Amino acid sequence: MSQERVQREVVSVVTAHRQREGAGFTVRRPFPSATIEQADPFLLIDEMGPTDYRPGEAIGAPDHPHRGFETVTYVLEGAFEHEDSAGHRGRIAAGGVQWMTAGAGLIHSEEPADRIKREGGRIHGFQIWVNLPRALKMTQPRYQEVSADGIPTGRSADGLASVRVIAGRALGAEAVIDTHLPITFQDWTLQAGADVTAEVDEGLNALVYVFEGSVRVGAGGMRIAEGQMAQLGDGGLLRLQGDEGTARFLLLAGKPLNEPLARYGPFVMNTRDELLEAMDDFRSGRMGEITRTAQVVDVPAPR
Ligand code: MN
Repeated sequence: MSQERVQREVVSVVTAHRQREGAGFTVRRPFPSATIEQADPFLLIDEMGPTDYRPGEAIGAPDHPHRGFETVTYVLEGAFEHEDSAGHRGRIAAGGVQWMTAGAGLIHSEEPADRIKREGGRIHGFQIWVNLPRALKMTQPRYQEVSADGIPTGRSADGLASVRVIAGRALGAEAVIDTHLPITFQDWTLQAGADVTAEVDEGLNALVYVFEGSVRVGAGGMRIAEGQMAQLGDGGLLRLQGDEGTARFLLLAGKPLNEPLARYGPFVMNTRDELLEAMDDFRSGRMGEITRTAQVVDVPAPR
């Protein structure tokens, strides 16, 4: 006898507002916030831009450490360049993703591509932090990088829904990225009239974050608009319907770790002692440093 799978419904909605950071870097961050510490196992969602930079304006994140979790960088427009203390260098171009397991720790820099810094250009993308369970926090760092044409894409029979599957599976497409725990990470595009049902395994925490247009989520068809994040109740199925025009959103789901959370800036551990150890390892150089082929010269500030 087959068992009826439960439809997921929206249980809460938050609106993320655009805020300018530093020298004009625009982000939308649905969490962490004063009210949402995490969406276990997801620790942070940053939508970077879209921002149009003039020549010399684009800025990034110079050398900084991470330990205890994963950062996923997904670029929609523009390009990022990446470099780390283990000698890894890479470029994430539009449509591409970098799934970085920081694990035990590394120092890296993440910068807009040189050409965008020099000539200006548009940047739009995401950085999402995925927590690691206690048993994997000190695992070896690992990179998985997939360019735009390597990300599997699924499509509904009527062509009104498509999905780029970075993690998990949907509409007949299965991710090439391997995750430590069951994770769904998908970029959906729905046109008006689209009506699809995604499978999201029961027991996973799931959310929808809309970054363009609006979409109807759940069997009840609640309208979720650009900049809003919907947290979903449990179930095995998720109904998604187009609203007006084109909608784009991320569907994220993951098995909650249900472990104590100790986070401070770029370190996410289980206990305060482990945080202190991470800071000590960083300060004493045990997370390494970036050795650059070209010498980096600090330019003194003008008086
Ligand atoms: Mn980083």
